[in-house]
Amino acid sequence: MKFQMSFIGNLLSKQILFSTTNKFAINSIKQSLLLTQQSKRLMSGQVITNTADTGLPLKEVLHQLQEYASPSIAEGWDNVGLLLEPSSPHTVKHLFLTNDLTEDVLDEAVSKKADLILSYHPPIFSSIKRITQEAWKNRLIIKCFENRIAIYSPHTSYDVVKGGVNDWLMSCFHGDTKPIKPLEPGVDNGFGQGRICTLKEPLAIEEVVQKVKTHLGLPYLRLATAPGVEQVQSIACCAGSGSSVLRGVRADVFLTGEMSHHDVLDAVSTKSHVILCEHSNTERGFLKTLIPVFTGMLKSKVKVTVSELDKDPLVVV
Ligand SMILES: [Zn+2]
Repeated sequence: MKFQMSFIGNLLSKQILFSTTNKFAINSIKQSLLLTQQSKRLMSGQVITNTADTGLPLKEVLHQLQEYASPSIAEGWDNVGLLLEPSSPHTVKHLFLTNDLTEDVLDEAVSKKADLILSYHPPIFSSIKRITQEAWKNRLIIKCFENRIAIYSPHTSYDVVKGGVNDWLMSCFHGDTKPIKPLEPGVDNGFGQGRICTLKEPLAIEEVVQKVKTHLGLPYLRLATAPGVEQVQSIACCAGSGSSVLRGVRADVFLTGEMSHHDVLDAVSTKSHVILCEHSNTERGFLKTLIPVFTGMLKSKVKVTVSELDKDPLVVV
């Protein structure tokens, strides 16, 4: 959030500077005021969508997305970047963000006239030998081509990037946060897998649970308590499925989406409480923070929205 606000602050100061030296000063000031109103709405937590619809060529949009987080920092096994490209020229007027591209979410994107879908999880991952109507992922591909919608997936590049999914997940706690596995071993530049936070003030596990519920907007989550750990002084998190990143880490709490039964037993036996929120609940909320970031980076020429239908498939009943 700090980055977003300072980004908007820079935009405002540039615009005001411009207005004092330009004969269109009044219009510029009006625009600045409009932007200020948008900023206030942003700070009060409202979702902003830009109404500009001039659009930008796909290549320019891709350039900005990759400026935000380079696909080169993603995990080697991942399938990130541009996954589906309609024939040129392709203008992007509406960038539509989702955590998972299901058929319902794609119908929503089509009805809202999206030109580019940013799907955090890559909807195309394994190799494909035929594209027919039988498999739902193939139907996604067919419908995207028929409706001239490109697909871009950032996935693990957003986990690793400084200010990305894991920093957002940890942002409900006050403390010193750093990556569990830095991107470059021994280099502390904020990039890397997972995050570990040393809290400024210790918390009871009940307080940690409440903070996570509030941050993620969840009525329920799953908790495994580690006997004898009364005060929480450190929290390790990994958005999504965290076992491989969290294994062997010393922290009073592990916070992730999902872990296997046996990994949970291992964690509590080594004095780490485990909080499980379901996989995508630890990822999805980050997308809303990207609306003002991308609106600014794309010079307000592209409408940026988040899916209203995207949700975790699992609920506690
Ligand atoms: Zn995930």
